[in-house]
Amino acid sequence: MQTELFTVPMIEGHETEIQKAADLIRAGQLVGIPTETVYGLGADALNPEAVANIYAAKGRPSDNPLIIHLPNDVRWLDRYCVEVPPLAYELAETFWPGPLTMILRRNPVVPDRTTGGLDTVGVRCPDHPVTRAIIAAADVPIAAPSANTSGRPSCTTAAEVMEDVGGKIAAVVDGGPCAVGVESTILDLTCTPPKLLRPGGMPLEQLEAVCGEIEIDPAVLRSMQAGERPRAPGMKYRHYAPKAPVTVFTGNPEATAAAIAKQAGEGSGVICFTECLDYFPNAITVDLGSVEDKQEQARRVFSALRSFDRTQVTAIYAQCPDPAGLGLAVGNRLKKAAGFHVVEVQG
Ligand code: AMP
Ligand code: MG
Repeated sequence: MQTELFTVPMIEGHETEIQKAADLIRAGQLVGIPTETVYGLGADALNPEAVANIYAAKGRPSDNPLIIHLPNDVRWLDRYCVEVPPLAYELAETFWPGPLTMILRRNPVVPDRTTGGLDTVGVRCPDHPVTRAIIAAADVPIAAPSANTSGRPSCTTAAEVMEDVGGKIAAVVDGGPCAVGVESTILDLTCTPPKLLRPGGMPLEQLEAVCGEIEIDPAVLRSMQAGERPRAPGMKYRHYAPKAPVTVFTGNPEATAAAIAKQAGEGSGVICFTECLDYFPNAITVDLGSVEDKQEQARRVFSALRSFDRTQVTAIYAQCPDPAGLGLAVGNRLKKAAGFHVVEVQG
């Protein structure tokens, strides 16, 4: 299949491409769409055949449910979810459009294929004007997992979407590089207190300011053991992984840089903070951004992981940010890429 590329840097003057993308979605086709978090692989969430094609194009296990993307309008929330608690409206009011996915009880109009057979559904309103315009023009919720091939790091540019699923989908809408760079934060509101299922672009601290106590699902912090079932089914799969094995080092930046420097020779790849680039003269280094600039780290983490697949490195070492703010999401993506192979450096 020839994948069409629509370049849509803004809505004005690009109404035709937006309408074409919406028409493809309505016709049951797959379209790569820009969001502020990562690129999504979109289809009509109410069309089970279209949704089945998402799983096929990504090679995604069929028990891993999709997030549905809605306009910023509570009437749509009420259309696809039932027993919506007051807190969900408050969170939507405060954080949408934005990188927060809420897990709510599903209305059965949302097909089993979309929710992986669960009686809940993940809903979010993305903060990207082009994709919101496509949803409005299609007039259906768009189911969209991250657009990467299953298991690979997520895509933060249209070119990466083409690299992973070009030839398998009808079109990709290039809305520029993703402003946030990591996926949405997933909060389960079907339990009390609410539960963090995946850290992401909306920092936990900001959610706690509205919700009070939030429980953290164990799958956020460690790998699942045989027989354990995380509440976000996607959290049990190896994810985000480049071809070479990854080891993550936690601790203060000077100490982790020194520890990595002892191991990283020629043939190694290192993901490090800007301040530590000089520690690894023989390795191939990728700059994750400054220690203090977690927004930049979030924007860069997936392309950093991906970049090593264009090299011959046989081992990758990564410095991990502290868990405050976006550091929880950046560290989680690095640790998942490492299969939770983590070295805790003291000092
Ligand atoms: P992705 O689209 O690649 O960001 O993956 C979506 C993530 O949301 C996966 O980890 C899913 O397991 C999770 N997810 C989607 N819907 C639900 C749901 N109803 N309950 C729990 N987790 C969900
Ligand atoms: Mg994904």
